[in-house]
Amino acid sequence: MTSIKQRTFVVMFIALCWTSNVLAQQKYDLLLKGGHVIDPKNKISAVRDVAIVNGKVAVVAARINPAEALKVVDVAGYYVTPGLIDIHVHVYTGTGERASYAGDNSVPPDGFTFRVGVTTVADAGCAGWRNFEDFKQRIIDRSKTRVLAFLNIVGHGMRGGKFEQDLSDMEAKPTADMALRYPGLIVGIKTAHFAGPEWTPVERAVEAGTTANIPVMVDFGINHPDKRPLSELLTRKLRPGDIYTHLYSGLRNEQLESGQVNPALFEARKRGVIFDVGHGGGSFLWRLAVPAMKEGFIPDSISTDLHIGSMNAGMKDMLNVMNKFLTMGMSIDDVILRSTWNPAREIKHEELGHLSSGAVADLAVFKLEKGNFGFVDMYGARLRGTRRLMCELTLRDGKVVYDLNGLTRPDWDKLPPNYDRTGDARWDSVTPARPVRNPR
Ligand SMILES: [Zn+2]
Repeated sequence: MTSIKQRTFVVMFIALCWTSNVLAQQKYDLLLKGGHVIDPKNKISAVRDVAIVNGKVAVVAARINPAEALKVVDVAGYYVTPGLIDIHVHVYTGTGERASYAGDNSVPPDGFTFRVGVTTVADAGCAGWRNFEDFKQRIIDRSKTRVLAFLNIVGHGMRGGKFEQDLSDMEAKPTADMALRYPGLIVGIKTAHFAGPEWTPVERAVEAGTTANIPVMVDFGINHPDKRPLSELLTRKLRPGDIYTHLYSGLRNEQLESGQVNPALFEARKRGVIFDVGHGGGSFLWRLAVPAMKEGFIPDSISTDLHIGSMNAGMKDMLNVMNKFLTMGMSIDDVILRSTWNPAREIKHEELGHLSSGAVADLAVFKLEKGNFGFVDMYGARLRGTRRLMCELTLRDGKVVYDLNGLTRPDWDKLPPNYDRTGDARWDSVTPARPVRNPR
């Protein structure tokens, strides 16, 4: 007969073996199981499992054993994509300055990003070299969203007319110097809102961009078709890789009177100039976008131009702008390409926007809803639609940062009566379990 001691030993031994076996098998922190993965860079559009470990994509495969993951989330019936990248936002808020994009016109990024699957944004020139470091310490360093920036060619940035029309504050050297001080964080140079007939803002921006080896993004300001024609900007002034934003505004001869796309746009595209949506409060018209799409002039990147004037108007958010292109007939795969991998390349962040093994695990999970929907342009005209993507789940660095319907959460009535925070810091940044305190 075995003693109690011996029996206890055997039981403990078995328990230990079982535990270590389970732990050894859990080589992943999180497994998204059975979703339709769209990863345009890797030419994947199929049902795949996605395993994540230490904040990175570990593997994307047809079937990954769920026993190998600490946390398994069933995403069958949903689309799984890289986290969205919105390269035109305005988020330099909090300075208290009225009527200024370095102030009240901007919005805090985290309130507008994760809930629609966006994990990276690029601020489009709210700050120039004089105030960039204030923007950085105030917003960039404190946001959960990855915030990058185009540096305004105006030293004071977008603080309003008297600053933005001042040619003497558009200096290439200090702008390039600041960009070179923060490589990877400052991803481009912005010129915007200029009302005069001079080429100076564009030329200085290109000069700074050339020195810092980064693209220029152009909001072409007030139209001067004689002194500063769009065709000259697109076919002579801009370099390949420079970005023309507000593509469908119709404010600067993007569309001819005949309704056709200005041939200069096609010519510029052949040269490698990039075309970005930049919807905003006043830069997206159905009567331009619909015929341009039919003519084959589609955007390289979809972006919002998020600010206080667009957030509650026709623009709303990144997903709403993407859904407009879906409604105009762009395929879901194409919409995702132009919201992930394309913008990543445009801002030279090729480590983002895809799900290759080892890539940062920024992901979004979308549901395709069917029904009767409406999408509104800058003049309040509506296009009706029947499909839209809605964001269910967003991961930043492999951790849940948004979960609309609790896809990752346990049912409350299946938990112990005194349940506490239900997550685990290895996959959850919303309600991770409290760290176990040292009893001493
Ligand atoms: Zn803008």
